[in-house]
Amino acid sequence: MSNIIDGKAMAAALVEETAIAAAKFNDAHGIKPGLAVVLVGEDPASAVYVRNKVKQATNAGLNSIEHRLPADTSQQTLNQLVDDLNNDAKVHGILVQLPLPEHLDEEHIIQAIDPAKDVDGFHPLNAGALATGQQALVPCTPLGCLIMLQRTLGDLSGKHAVVIGRSNIVGKPMAALLLQANCTVTTVHSRTQDIVGICSQADIIVAAVGRANFVQADWVKTGAVVIDVGINAIEQDGKRKLVGDVDFAQVAPKAAAITPVPGGVGPMTIACLMKNTLTAANQQMQS
Ligand code: NAP
Repeated sequence: MSNIIDGKAMAAALVEETAIAAAKFNDAHGIKPGLAVVLVGEDPASAVYVRNKVKQATNAGLNSIEHRLPADTSQQTLNQLVDDLNNDAKVHGILVQLPLPEHLDEEHIIQAIDPAKDVDGFHPLNAGALATGQQALVPCTPLGCLIMLQRTLGDLSGKHAVVIGRSNIVGKPMAALLLQANCTVTTVHSRTQDIVGICSQADIIVAAVGRANFVQADWVKTGAVVIDVGINAIEQDGKRKLVGDVDFAQVAPKAAAITPVPGGVGPMTIACLMKNTLTAANQQMQS
């Protein structure tokens, strides 16, 4: 049996589960959970992400509302749009695709989104709620990783999880989620000494570094589960190719289970955006 975790299949299952719950929400409240996606500018990678998000929103039975703004949009115009979406009862989740063009203040926009509609989970109130174990909207990528781990391993209690990277969008919330799931968590980063020694003790490795093929076979204990968050474009045989942070060919034979890139964490991230929109919609109806 293959030890490759099929992120596409898990994401399809999660979207299906969300669609069933979204239909129940519609029956109960006479409205579909609504997701507003805002794209500023023409960044090709962002345009692909937004297209995939809008497609999956429809598959998940959500009302998908798209706002495309030109690259020279002013801060004031974007602030106004976010404000309007905060006050729109049809909108339960707001996602402003990052990165924004340089002249726009990303931190300001993250904090302008109503925390109850913050389906990216980047607002400091949601980050604080997650860190203190309260009800929070959780960033989609680490949430997707957690669900993949739980659906692969079941109960994570007592596992030693090593998270490589400490960004606000992946590493830190990932460590908080694994701690909540009763793992023993070590976070390593660019200043850590003996990363290899620490990783080689791990039952679970989550790599979120942004360096192609960074994690090598001798870093990984036989039977560990490896989640590769990285997305790195490299040139191979004159062609552009996407690879993760883990040297997949070398590490896969040692791992009990491993996510591929592409087809692992990426699809689950988008599926979790749909799940978060439903969660946000349900929470808004309860409050
Ligand atoms: P980031 O903000 O650049 O953070 C990278 C982290 O890696 C930092 O904490 C950094 O440590 C650490 N690091 C860098 N070099 C290191 C080294 N030599 N040894 C140990 N640690 C090192 O990146 P991010 O936003 O977390 O994203 C990480 C990767 O995941 C990227 O490839 C990104 O494209 C990908 N990603 C994928 C998805 C998805 O949906 N699949 C979503 C988000 C991100 P310091 O803090 O010490 O600098």
